[in-house]
Amino acid sequence: MCGTASAPYLAIKCLQQLALNESNNFPLASKAALKDFYVDDLMSGVNSLSEALELQNQLTQMVSSAGLVLRKWASNCSELLNSIDSDMRLSNTSLNIDNDDTVKTLGILWHPASDLELPYITSPIYTDSTIVLSWIGSHASRWKTFVANRVAKIQTLSSATQWHHISGSANPADLATRGVSFSTLLTSIWLCGPKFLHETFPFQTDSSVPTLNDAVPEERYCTLQSIIVPNHLPDGNDLLHKFSSLSKLKRVIFCLRFVNNCKNSKDKTNGFLKTNELNNAMHVLIKLVQTIEFNNEINALKRNQPLSCRSKILSLNPFLDNSNILRVGGRLRHANLAYGHKHPILLPKRHILTDLIIRHYHEILLPAGTQLVQSCIQEQYWIIGARNVIRHLIRKCVKCCKVKASITNQRMSDLPSSRISPAPAFMRCGVDYAGPFQIFKTIKGRGSKSFKAYIALFVSLY
Ligand SMILES: [Zn+2]
Repeated sequence: MCGTASAPYLAIKCLQQLALNESNNFPLASKAALKDFYVDDLMSGVNSLSEALELQNQLTQMVSSAGLVLRKWASNCSELLNSIDSDMRLSNTSLNIDNDDTVKTLGILWHPASDLELPYITSPIYTDSTIVLSWIGSHASRWKTFVANRVAKIQTLSSATQWHHISGSANPADLATRGVSFSTLLTSIWLCGPKFLHETFPFQTDSSVPTLNDAVPEERYCTLQSIIVPNHLPDGNDLLHKFSSLSKLKRVIFCLRFVNNCKNSKDKTNGFLKTNELNNAMHVLIKLVQTIEFNNEINALKRNQPLSCRSKILSLNPFLDNSNILRVGGRLRHANLAYGHKHPILLPKRHILTDLIIRHYHEILLPAGTQLVQSCIQEQYWIIGARNVIRHLIRKCVKCCKVKASITNQRMSDLPSSRISPAPAFMRCGVDYAGPFQIFKTIKGRGSKSFKAYIALFVSLY
């Protein structure tokens, strides 16, 4: 197995699996094997001789249960080494902990006496830039891209708590960036470092850190956009702009059925849409639009007050019907017409609902023009300035533009010289030939008989 690419993995995996399997039988050995094995060398330690003996015993038994033998034992404890057979030791002499004896394990130099007791020390890092300290002290996303990338890198390699401020005069790196003469360099802090590094650890860092104002350079500013929604527009008005078809819009208002069913739990409406539901939906939409566009007139009519002389619909003598829908009064009260025809519903000139109604009538009356569409609409609705609005919408109709598109003709080639050069009649002729035609000829006393006939038409070209 040795020498193959997978050998290190297999060696480690075998030991780890063995440690997992034997974790109940040899808990100390299992823990040490999982944590302290480096490929096939174990470097571990405990706090007492008894624990060391127990660990050595468990390790030996655990690996022997898999048919393996641990050799080359080394320790800084002579009592432990004495308990191990001499041929199993790395050296027949015990390690002297008072000397600098080291053991080389897979290229790692190990000092048995001191290398298991290294305390974890966080290295302090110093900078004389308060701006950099502010950058590192905040999340990288707070800063602009260039700074953010570098701050993120620093924060992955160090902790913000490691960073401290050092005054510019105490910063040796400052000499390198500014340049210094040789004579000054010999007596400078470049060679020996700042004074506080010679004091007892932990060092007293510069407590008088300059404070920055709120604005820190390279900060990413968020753009706040505020949208003011006019108070006079009800929410339903936005709904109308989301549909390009009147029939679809009316079916969306179909949710009214849900509202009615909630109100009348005993008399719920189910099944297909009904005509009266669609009409009610239309009335809801119309009242919504009229409330927006003719609010002053509706308020005046509700109070039985005369309309303003500046009202655009004053001449139409409008009134509110039983459903509070604004209708044209007009002078046709006694006419033998339908109620909606005599008193059509008032609609504004420029509104999405007006456009949808015009488009609806235009499409069901295709290819009707402005006049027919207007007369059909006026059987129910009175649109202020209807003619221009209808004409404008029909002109913009894509379907009509396609249908009415002028047909392009192929350009004819030049006439031949025989057609345009003077010559005697029938000097040059063209012939058109047609047939056969059935000709019936009556022969006296013998009935009729059919013949085939052909036409040859000679045309003089000039
Ligand atoms: Zn059209």
